[in-house]
Amino acid sequence: MPGLIERYRDRLPFSAGDPVISLEEGSTPLLFAPRLSERVGAEVHLKLEGLNPTGSFKDRGMTCAVSAAVRDGAEAVICASTGNTAASLAAYAARAGIRGVVIVPEGKIAVGKLAQALMYGARVISLAGNFDAALTLVRQVASVHPIALVNSVNDFRIEGQKTASFEIAEALGDLDALCIPVGNAGNITAYWKGFREVGLAPRMFGFQAAGAAPLVHGAPVAHPETVASAIRIGNPARWEQAMDAMTSSAGGVAAVTDAQILDAYRFLARQEGVFCEPASAASVAGLIAHGAGGAERVVCVLTGNGLKDPDTALSQVSGVVACAAEISAIEAAVL
Ligand SMILES: *Cc1c(COP(=O)(O)O)cnc(C)c1O
Repeated sequence: MPGLIERYRDRLPFSAGDPVISLEEGSTPLLFAPRLSERVGAEVHLKLEGLNPTGSFKDRGMTCAVSAAVRDGAEAVICASTGNTAASLAAYAARAGIRGVVIVPEGKIAVGKLAQALMYGARVISLAGNFDAALTLVRQVASVHPIALVNSVNDFRIEGQKTASFEIAEALGDLDALCIPVGNAGNITAYWKGFREVGLAPRMFGFQAAGAAPLVHGAPVAHPETVASAIRIGNPARWEQAMDAMTSSAGGVAAVTDAQILDAYRFLARQEGVFCEPASAASVAGLIAHGAGGAERVVCVLTGNGLKDPDTALSQVSGVVACAAEISAIEAAVL
């Protein structure tokens, strides 16, 4: 499949002849989830965004943000990140042949994401502070230096990410509700924009981790904490737009505990054969815990791949079975 800009150029801010930096992102599966459907009493589909080139939906926004930066002559791109934006930026910067710089909160980023950012050759800066502090600082740096800021405050990110709604509309025709994890709130903003552009208005249900739920409390959270590191954000940049998406669609925002997130995380792997990262499971945890307003056809967005965060996965399972290299021992272990 061609990448997003090629597929949807008529609905994106790019003209024929503009540079396109693509890894053939998008066109991700929309998988029916029979066991989850049975559990919640609705027809539930999973949008598998972990199958993008760097393993998260961030690639949709990044192809647009980096293509636009290259068009504008940028020689470097920068972001603050809980991990996936860093991995995505690093890959697209490598592809474009420009410098990539990422600022991540010290010690709070999943190991797979860190490995990706370093392998793709970005400069990775570990900040003695949280995501919100990192975002404030990169905004300052980008405002005074010729470096393009590609966090979701960059409108090209929203443009790219809205294409997931186009794909859902193409696959299903219509849906009653969308369940999505909310961190910095760019993605829910993008989905709502995309749905409006194709004439749909599903109820938008955003779910935050209980320890990082500023939209639920109506106030920033100074020290956000959750196992779902991708949504460990206390002061979302797209706050008003996310609230608008949820209120004007008659949806809502609610919190899910880490225990509920991890329960959904294991359920998806064991009952549906889908391994997402913990933050992604917040959409399903929210659907299980709070429902989706009685909706019949629901899409849950699984934002990132489970392989990103092997430490959390291994903390959730019993270990491997040790065995001597003898037939009787193998038989005992297998049977
Ligand atoms: C970035 C991210 C989110 C949160 O998206 P926002 O646009 O910041 O709300 C959720 N899950 C994963 C895996 C992410 O990488």
